[in-house]
Amino acid sequence: MTADALTQSFLLTAQAVAVCGLLLAFFSLRHRFGYAPLYVTLGGFQHLQTLLAKTLYIEVFPGIVVSPGSVVLFTATLFAVLLVYIREDTAQTRSLIVGIVAANLTLSLVVWMTTFHLGSDLLVQTGFASEHLLQWSLQAFVVGTVTLIVDAFLIVVLYEYFYRLFPRLLFARIFAAMFVVVVIDTLLFVTASFYGSTDFTGILASGVIGKASAALIYTFLLSSYLRWARSRAAGGHGFSGHADDIFHILTYKQRFELLEEEIKRDGLTGLFNRRFFDENLRREMGRADRLAHELNLALIDIDHFKSINDSYGHQVGDQFIQALADSMQAAFRAADIPCRYGGEEFAIIMPDCPVEGASRATERLQAEFSALCKARGLPGADGVTFTAGIANYPADADTAVDLIERADQRLYKGKRHGRNRVMLDTVRMSKLAMS
Ligand code: GH3
Ligand code: MG
Ligand code: MG
Repeated sequence: MTADALTQSFLLTAQAVAVCGLLLAFFSLRHRFGYAPLYVTLGGFQHLQTLLAKTLYIEVFPGIVVSPGSVVLFTATLFAVLLVYIREDTAQTRSLIVGIVAANLTLSLVVWMTTFHLGSDLLVQTGFASEHLLQWSLQAFVVGTVTLIVDAFLIVVLYEYFYRLFPRLLFARIFAAMFVVVVIDTLLFVTASFYGSTDFTGILASGVIGKASAALIYTFLLSSYLRWARSRAAGGHGFSGHADDIFHILTYKQRFELLEEEIKRDGLTGLFNRRFFDENLRREMGRADRLAHELNLALIDIDHFKSINDSYGHQVGDQFIQALADSMQAAFRAADIPCRYGGEEFAIIMPDCPVEGASRATERLQAEFSALCKARGLPGADGVTFTAGIANYPADADTAVDLIERADQRLYKGKRHGRNRVMLDTVRMSKLAMS
């Protein structure tokens, strides 16, 4: 690499860092000045990037020719969309994307209308190369606008996709999303604009290498900023301020996942709640049908719970409920779905499991529950028991409602027969007893 090539590469890197730094600064100041500084700047990029991409290229490596327009500015637009999506919400991201497309369309319209001056005898040209600069083609306009819209939406969709693949790797998911978008964008744009030209492959390689390098710089800066913003928010203000703070601290994605999780969970035990149980039971029954598996449902109710509450108070009662929830983790398989059905009643869905297995796991739960209550020193732990009723799908019922009904009938039969037992249907019970 020659000294000049080094200087030129350094200049491009410096441009990327400067642009990115300013965009981040404008974004950080949004609480004081709103989004206008960031958005107006990005609107300006839409013109400048086209202008530069038409006029200025640098051969950083032999055969690799890049323009600050596409490498620095185009990639910066993707960076800004991702920044707003991660730190704000979908409504704000949509507003930004519409803004960028609007700037693009308006600037393109003005350039197109300006071309009609070119034939006039009254035209006075004071600048350079205006004919070339004002070249306007419908093809380039359509390709440019379509790829811009595709890119802006794709970066968000890909970020979500990679979020699932690398939930803990911020850098990896930002870079992967940016990299895929710049590759797709370059393929679309270069193919539509230069297909058939002699240096098609060279242009393609230049586009991918140049933009991917910029994406690497932007990813580094964006992930550093996000980490810094998060730690500053956590350390600086904590969660104690206005409810508003939480919305600045947590990203849209995190907020969504927290809410989604809260909706499913019971506050006291952290188990899935009744609503999620109903949804899940139907889904698991559908799955059992498709895979021709059996499914078991156990309903569990703590015995004489009222007297625990009456003797030791509701708080102790709650501790028994928590102990039962915690022992479920130990007694059942990871695939089983324990839920708090309500009060001191629990339900557990056991997919792909014969009734004998379900019965053994529920008996194991009785032992775990009793041991845990004693280990936690709960008053009256010695005598605490529960009764369970198990129903099997498809043997006992066709629908979710009937299956719950059957398990409930057995549970109450168990209560009538003296409590502290696991009830199955009588035929299976006698088989189990014999074996
Ligand atoms: P059985 O053996 O027949 O089930 O007798 P039981 O006393 O347990 O009767 P039942 O199941 O009808 O009583 C449930 C009691 O659980 C009534 C209610 O006061 C209490 N309870 C319901 N939800 C909670 C809760 O969240 N915390 C506490 N501490 N008690 C609850
Ligand atoms: Mg009850
Ligand atoms: Mg009870």
